[in-house]
Amino acid sequence: MLSPTWAEVNLSAIEQNVRHLSQISQAPLMAVVKANGYGHGAIEISKAALAAGAAWLGVARVDEGLALVQAGIRAPILVLGPVAPSEVDDAILNGLTLTLYNAEVAEIYADRSHAIGRAASIHLKVDTGMGRLGVLAEDVPTLARRIIQRGNIHLDGVFTHLARAGESDFAYTQTQLLRFRNALESLQAAGLHPTWTHAANSAAALTDPAVRLDLVRIGAALYGLDPSADIHVPPQLRPALAWKAQLASCKTLPAKWGVSYSHQYVNYDPELIGVLPIGYADGWRRTRGNVVLIAGRRTPVVGRVCMDMCMVRLPQPVSPGTEVILLGEQDGEAIRAEEVAARWATNNLDVVSSISARVPRIYVRDGASERTNQHDAETWIS
Ligand SMILES: *Cc1c(COP(=O)(O)O)cnc(C)c1O
Repeated sequence: MLSPTWAEVNLSAIEQNVRHLSQISQAPLMAVVKANGYGHGAIEISKAALAAGAAWLGVARVDEGLALVQAGIRAPILVLGPVAPSEVDDAILNGLTLTLYNAEVAEIYADRSHAIGRAASIHLKVDTGMGRLGVLAEDVPTLARRIIQRGNIHLDGVFTHLARAGESDFAYTQTQLLRFRNALESLQAAGLHPTWTHAANSAAALTDPAVRLDLVRIGAALYGLDPSADIHVPPQLRPALAWKAQLASCKTLPAKWGVSYSHQYVNYDPELIGVLPIGYADGWRRTRGNVVLIAGRRTPVVGRVCMDMCMVRLPQPVSPGTEVILLGEQDGEAIRAEEVAARWATNNLDVVSSISARVPRIYVRDGASERTNQHDAETWIS
């Protein structure tokens, strides 16, 4: 191993998840790979998702899109989030599709398109009740007229984002869809007919056929993660990421020795304490009650988590170098991101996307995943 801790990403799982999600949703799929592919590695995830049939890639920022283009990826890429004026030229010249979310950016896109002599491809974002980016449905006609007037913007799509698709009650989603349909009608009345209309995130794509439209934007479920506490991925989808480490040290501490800063944990009897090469700078939170798998057993983290290390209480001696699982499976036991999220009072996506850049991502495929301590043709690092 090149590092004492690493995240192992199974690309076979990503490909199978994409195929299964395409089958369920019966709609073209946008693989959402923002935030470094939810911590999994944006370039590798994009390639795997496209190989499995994804039609689009979605990113949050222009620089995330540019990184994909620079990696040689030739698929339509939508920048879902806000754009700084200074980024617009690069985005257009590299063929990224931008989100048009208010009248000000409409003018900037049109000005820059004119200046560089290339039409900006855009998707219009309608705020139907998320209260985030987007134009209100009632402002769509005015904006549509302006887009037509300016001429150098190519309206390729129109979309909205659902605020409450992760809840078991779909009533608000229905309200949002109604507003979205009104916005679509006013676009059509203005003579604009974008190719792609889309609204569904993972939660909606899994639960509500009416929301799937021309394209489903899938993040969480692509990685095998539950879209929300109420909406679970079907059993055919599996988590692609396992977070692992090697035990750094194991020794018996004398009675009443105390473990880590401030001695929040004090061993009353002599105890076997192991050291893990994982700390909060890796994205392993300082929350109490952390648990890892060692030799297939749930093993408690004791004492404060440090920046680069934390300690575990071991029932029996374990050799340094032994594989420890922070997220993933071992000998039939599993720790899922959803479980860790509950402990950290956050969601599963926060857990995986916060694994820091210091933790190398290692890519495996089914069949190669057992050989974790060696590198072969099917395993590589980025
Ligand atoms: C992140 C994001 C998605 C993906 O959401 P998931 O719940 O992870 O599937 C879809 N659309 C937009 C606009 C997003 O920002």
